[in-house]
Amino acid sequence: MPLVSYKVDQEKINQTIKKVLDIFKENMDLIKDKGWIVSEPESPRWWGGLQSGEEIIISSILVQMTRWETVAKVISEMRENGLTNFGKLSSLSEEEIYLLIRRVNFSRTKAKRLKVIADKASSYASIQDFIDDLKGVQGIGQETYYSLLLFVGNRIYFPPSEYGSRVLSRVTSMRIPKLKVKEVVESSLPKDLFTYKLFHAGLVTVGRVSCFKQPKCEKCILKMICNLNKNNETLRI
Ligand code: SF4
Repeated sequence: MPLVSYKVDQEKINQTIKKVLDIFKENMDLIKDKGWIVSEPESPRWWGGLQSGEEIIISSILVQMTRWETVAKVISEMRENGLTNFGKLSSLSEEEIYLLIRRVNFSRTKAKRLKVIADKASSYASIQDFIDDLKGVQGIGQETYYSLLLFVGNRIYFPPSEYGSRVLSRVTSMRIPKLKVKEVVESSLPKDLFTYKLFHAGLVTVGRVSCFKQPKCEKCILKMICNLNKNNETLRI
C-alpha cells in the first residue's frame, strides 16, 4: 500500500493515535532511558531533568548543533552562579555570556541570542507572561516555539517535529508533513497536559531509537501497528 499524498482520514488517525499513545504509556522506561524525565504534568523536569522554565529556554538555544551532555554541564554551572535567572543574566554583557557558554558550538551567535532573550524576559513579571513573546526571536523556530509553550508554558499545543512527521506518516500510511503534525495530533489527542508531553516525548524517542531514514523496524515499539512495517513498504520518508 503506497503512502498517499496529504489527505488525512481523521477517523483513521484518531484510532491510530490512540494505539500509539497506549504503546507509549506501556514503554515509559524506554522514553526515560532516552532522557525524558516523565514527571508531574507541570514539572520542568520533563526536559532532560532541568529545574526551571528559564533553564529550558536557555537549553533550547544552546542545544542547536551541540550535544545535550555539554549543554547540561554549561547550564549546571550557570545555575550554580545564579545565572539561569533572566534578570541576572541580562545584567551581563554579550561577551560575558559568551565566556559562560563558550564550550557549545556557535557560542558567539548563541550568546547574542541569549542576551536578546534575557533582556526581553527581564521586563516581564513572570516567564509565563514572557513566553508568547518568544515567537519570531532569532533561534526560536516554530518547533522550538511550540515545544516551549508546552514544556515551559504548560499550554496544550502540540509541537510540529520532523520526528512526528516521519513516525506518524509511516505508522498511518498517510503523508503528514511537519507543518500538519500539530493540527492532526491536536484534533485527536485528549486535551491533557501529561498526554501531550508524553506523546511528543514518545515520537521523538521512536525517531531517535529506530525510525531513521532507513528504519530499524525490528527494534521499534510501534512495529505491531505500523503500516510501513506490516506492509513491508519500500517508500521511505
Ligand atoms: S515500525 Fe519502522 S517505520 Fe514504523 S515507526 Fe517503527 S521504525 Fe518507523
